[in-house]
Amino acid sequence: MQTPDDELLHPDDGPNPPQPPAASDDVLGAAPLTFRDFPTEGTPPFINKRLDLAGWESYCAAYQFGPLAPSRVVLHHTLVPRLDQWAGLATMRGMQRYYAGKGWTSGPHIYTGPDGIWLATPMSRVGIHAGVGNGSVRQGWYSIGLEMVGDYDQTKPAGEVWRNTLAVLAGLSQRLGIPIRRLLAFHRDYTTQKSCPGRAVTKEWVWSEVEARQRTIVNPPTARRAPYDELSPLDGIARLSPEWVAAYLERRGAAYAPYDLGIITRAIWAQATEAGLNPDLVAAQLAHETGNLTSWWSQRPRRNPAGIGVTGQVIRQRPTSITRQAGGDTITTWAQQADGTWAEGISFPTWEHAVRAHVGRLLLYTVGLGATRAQQALAAYALEVRPLPRAAWESVTTLKALGAIHNPANLGKPREQWTSGWAWPGDRYGAHLAEIANAMLEAAL
Ligand SMILES: [Zn+2]
Repeated sequence: MQTPDDELLHPDDGPNPPQPPAASDDVLGAAPLTFRDFPTEGTPPFINKRLDLAGWESYCAAYQFGPLAPSRVVLHHTLVPRLDQWAGLATMRGMQRYYAGKGWTSGPHIYTGPDGIWLATPMSRVGIHAGVGNGSVRQGWYSIGLEMVGDYDQTKPAGEVWRNTLAVLAGLSQRLGIPIRRLLAFHRDYTTQKSCPGRAVTKEWVWSEVEARQRTIVNPPTARRAPYDELSPLDGIARLSPEWVAAYLERRGAAYAPYDLGIITRAIWAQATEAGLNPDLVAAQLAHETGNLTSWWSQRPRRNPAGIGVTGQVIRQRPTSITRQAGGDTITTWAQQADGTWAEGISFPTWEHAVRAHVGRLLLYTVGLGATRAQQALAAYALEVRPLPRAAWESVTTLKALGAIHNPANLGKPREQWTSGWAWPGDRYGAHLAEIANAMLEAAL
């Protein structure tokens, strides 16, 4: 099969050309620590790699989206190239040239062809494929552009193309923790000029196909088992997204506006990813420690995310010093209560500072000072905010070990000599955090 001419390639930009996002807007934050995406080639940067079903499943399950995960998948059909024009890598490169000619800085993320699942724009970046349906970092959401190879105005997709498309939709739904009915959008939802992904394709049909696949491939015992338990490692992969945790906290009565909840949860995702920690579990701990952001200590101007430095000490007289320097910024070490008394505990100037201290402290517990420069900076900041005994460093791998009674550094010692643990005695602390993370997942599904 010959290389298709660029003119034949998907003109999926016709009367409604999507605008490329501003240069600083299309590449998302820090590189993840534990997952490296495949390298890209050319302009716009495309991975141009083909995966089979098993390859896609492991790629998707381990994928690290960085500080902002996509919350939508926009389904397209390529129209041209048609199915019989498809020539794999040659067609991928042809489309890449076509987009480069339009000056686009990215394109769709995934093409499902008859020969496999083709990766184009990395999924951690905002793509260009659906105009206002692209989203952007500034707007706080973005979509994955999924192109089915072929023309589905007359007939529904079938065979390998459809099998691969279902695998991508089901995989992303699972990975992002968003049910297909909320995740799926069509290109035509964002324009009146197109039938994309084809007049023969309806939402109801796609939903039922994806849901049927999700029922058959997941074996029931695994599906029934709660995703998190007290033995879950703190360095696992997120299944939630900042937007879902924000929605959860809002429904649970958080004393912050949705806009602020978005800032807080996105900070958790950014910092936890930097630290190599599972953002789901950091968020669950924040929810637990702050009563879903209702506690006095979690309110402005204190913004304490997890009882950091809160000792229970209350005094009548204003302490001589109530501030300290940490990481070049001022934190407050005593806070005045409504009755005029002073309570010991850390207040943070912004939620960014608060989340850094929280994640940095968890990092000290799990891997000590950390390996990367970013990790070391987090850990150093957390130590300036509040010291942590050396014995507690690297004493935690699972949620359970955050409870002092289960922490390996305390084993065999009388309680007065315990050095390590977030909660004292914390017998059910890890189990409780797992329950909260599971409740967040359930709320999202
Ligand atoms: Zn389209």
